Amino acid sequence: MLKKLLLLLVLLAVIGVAGYAVYRAAQLQPREAPPPAAALIAVDRPAVAQRLSEALRIATVSNADGAATDHAAFDYFATFLKARFPLTHDKLKPETIGRHALLYTWAGSRPELAPVLLAAHQDVVPASAEGWTHPPFEGAIASGSVWGRGALDDKNSLVAILEATEALIGQGFVPERTLLLAFGDDEEVGGSGAQAIAATLATRGIKAQFTLDEGGAVTRGIIAGLDRPVASLMAGEKGYLSVKLSLQADGGHSSTPPPHTVIGRLARAVDRLERQPMPARLIAPIDAMLGELAPELDWPARIVVANRDWMSPLLFAVLSRSRTTNALIRTTTAPTVFRAGDKDNVLPASGEAVINFRLLPGDSIASVIEQVRRTIDDEGIKVEALEGFNNEAPPASDVHAPAYALIERSINEVFPEALVASGIVLGATDNRHYAAVREQGYNFSPMPYTSDDEGRIHGIDERIGIVDYERMIQFYAQLMRNSLAGGA
Ligand SMILES: [Zn+2]
Repeated sequence: MLKKLLLLLVLLAVIGVAGYAVYRAAQLQPREAPPPAAALIAVDRPAVAQRLSEALRIATVSNADGAATDHAAFDYFATFLKARFPLTHDKLKPETIGRHALLYTWAGSRPELAPVLLAAHQDVVPASAEGWTHPPFEGAIASGSVWGRGALDDKNSLVAILEATEALIGQGFVPERTLLLAFGDDEEVGGSGAQAIAATLATRGIKAQFTLDEGGAVTRGIIAGLDRPVASLMAGEKGYLSVKLSLQADGGHSSTPPPHTVIGRLARAVDRLERQPMPARLIAPIDAMLGELAPELDWPARIVVANRDWMSPLLFAVLSRSRTTNALIRTTTAPTVFRAGDKDNVLPASGEAVINFRLLPGDSIASVIEQVRRTIDDEGIKVEALEGFNNEAPPASDVHAPAYALIERSINEVFPEALVASGIVLGATDNRHYAAVREQGYNFSPMPYTSDDEGRIHGIDERIGIVDYERMIQFYAQLMRNSLAGGA
């Protein structure tokens, strides 16, 4: 009798919990429609397309080896900007920082307010003409698009920001808050230009209210069952760490091998790292993203997301299944180099492997190296950070800050069809270099981005539709109007 009663109680509890989970999912309401779009600035499409085309013709290719850089191209780019954006160069204070980085200051009427910093980079990755419909450095205007290296990454943003600035000056707009435009010259090879700008701002005691750099875009069809375009306003980016594992051992002839060889031990270490991924965590920008997307999701997914506060094991299991969503919830582990041995009958006396980690904000380089040591559990293997590009993940920014709401509003005004959701950038941008000179840092590229575009960034046939470019300019103008108008 008691047993039956207990069983009944358990059954009722299960029904109750399930009902609660479904109830919470059903309670989710899509957010209210954004306010009607304010009048966006008028854009002279042929003229702006022409100026972007000219910018793409200047081959500002960055190179990790400064001696191999075409410095004349960067000098010419600065001259070009000065010639094409005369009002901006008159009203704003332009400065060259370091060799080619550019900083423009549009002083606001209320200097007590923290400035807004918009970032973009002048440099592009190299491109050979092979496979391109129109050569990468000719700036062809064809089929409704402007073609060339940098059309999506990132000269489109840089020139669109200047178009918006020029247009607002032309309209007599007077900023209350100071606007800083920060254009690094080597984002693709580490971002020393942005670092130099950040150092200059630091010596001047400047701390921006927010920085906005390239990153998320307006995507469609990326999330299964979600038809609406999603504008990803990223509130953080991942860090970067390559760890080298190296092992020395007795070599010798392969006819009398020991039970464990250099190759076997290194392989075991790499295998352990793959089998025990870094622990999953829900950081604030991803939690916010899930909350924003939840009302739009299909049913089973919606229940898990709506109840993510207590269903996290299930949520993590689901998100870990896709490579992209897995990267949002943990520091990822990617073995990228494995070297040992060079002759089929000789045991190698040494070997090494390199594992590339992309750090989730909150995981430090030191903590990941420590975790690697624990996981591989082999004292003979030396574990160290590979020299080079490593950088900590900057702290995630606040998705509830007034600046976030202000950018979100600007997105709504220009992309009313899109759902704004947060997230983090999986790659690295110049934005990380400004972490010390800002309150909040966000990433958003105001352009549509499809799976086709994915192959064009750093690939062939990079191009942007002229109507899409027009909206980029309108977005930056809207953002300046909304963010420079003062406030607390
Ligand atoms: Zn870029």
